[in-house]
Amino acid sequence: MEMKAPRGTHDIMPEQSGAWQAVEDVIRRRCARFGFEEIRTPIFEQTNVFARGVGDTTDIVQKEMYTFDDKGGRSMTLRPENTAGVVRAFLEHRLYSGPMPVKLYYLSAPMFRYENPQSGRYRQFHQFGVEVFGAPSASCDAEVIALAWGLLKELGVEKLALHINSIGCPTCRMEYQKSLRAYFNDHLDTLCGTCHERLDRNPMRILDCKSPECKAVAENAPKMIDHICDDCKEHFQQLKTYLEVAGIPYSVDPMIVRGLDYYTRTVFEIISEDIGAQGTVCGGGRYDGLMRLMGGPELPGVGFAFGVERLLMVMEALGKLPEVDRTSDVYIASLPNDDARKKAFELCMTCRAEGIRAEIDHAARGLKAQTKYAGKSGAKFMIVIGDDELANESVRIRNMADGTEIESSMADVAKNVLSLIHA
Ligand SMILES: [Zn+2]
Ligand SMILES: [Zn+2]
Repeated sequence: MEMKAPRGTHDIMPEQSGAWQAVEDVIRRRCARFGFEEIRTPIFEQTNVFARGVGDTTDIVQKEMYTFDDKGGRSMTLRPENTAGVVRAFLEHRLYSGPMPVKLYYLSAPMFRYENPQSGRYRQFHQFGVEVFGAPSASCDAEVIALAWGLLKELGVEKLALHINSIGCPTCRMEYQKSLRAYFNDHLDTLCGTCHERLDRNPMRILDCKSPECKAVAENAPKMIDHICDDCKEHFQQLKTYLEVAGIPYSVDPMIVRGLDYYTRTVFEIISEDIGAQGTVCGGGRYDGLMRLMGGPELPGVGFAFGVERLLMVMEALGKLPEVDRTSDVYIASLPNDDARKKAFELCMTCRAEGIRAEIDHAARGLKAQTKYAGKSGAKFMIVIGDDELANESVRIRNMADGTEIESSMADVAKNVLSLIHA
């Protein structure tokens, strides 16, 4: 039987993982500068965490979750996104009783959705995201956006557009939903079956419908941004002000919505303009109602999520994937006898202790095979340990690029290799 990775999953192979790590390093450093700390939560949770935290009327919960009963008969689900799990952890560890705000991030965290792989989506994919709890002010929304915006620039994704919108609060949304319902009622015959059901329960979700007919109707629907209350207006104005202070250009896009009750006020998307339709690399917003919905105190939240695969795809398309050096600094070849091999091993360990990427032979191959291997592997320097070298406690360090050699006592090998590397 031929074994293959499950449909919709992919292996991150050594030729790719270096770029992942380089990008992750940039993200970690940036998060630290912004005062965010990492949280790692389990990849599965009790199903009700997502049913509540994501919303049991969403496509994610209804169609895309990997849900199973464990051996104790409890319903478990592989996480389809991370905010719900982070909120669950926040509540479980009572972080709400400590100082606010709490600023968290997660990085390259695997997520699972049962999607059609033909659409270019993975069934296991990875997300980077941040969540801030306990910060109601729009300056925090701007901070979160600035983190994402600057990160993309730092990663070389230069041509960016930030789209922002406000979807109001429960107070103003109630009024808005009335006018929305009235509007859609006039277009009932155009709406799809699912949207008929949405009309009573939550008409805002019609705005998210992917059916072209519903989309066309939604285009001309009343806009939330025109119906927000004075407090929400003020919050949105503050957001714009802080974005201006941060020097981040934006445009208001009334079509960005999150059709779930716990989302409030700010929603945003960052789009790479070089990529086109696939260009949305980051989406986020405020969710002041989520903590309460999940059984916690009334505490505001704001955050975003990136798909890491998507981000790397965009970087690759722009030729910005980090180049990672996968070659050794020094290859230490030796005669295939015990004395020479032990000395090679010892020198190799000394070099590694000094931070040098060193390699030796582990197959007791002949000297010729080893030197050939060293050349093919792209090692920058090579040392050969033969009988003379053992007798004299001295080696030559060969520069593989130009063939030049220097003499070194065995005791000084690491020191000399280091200075050659940094020459
Ligand atoms: Zn409002
Ligand atoms: Zn529809």
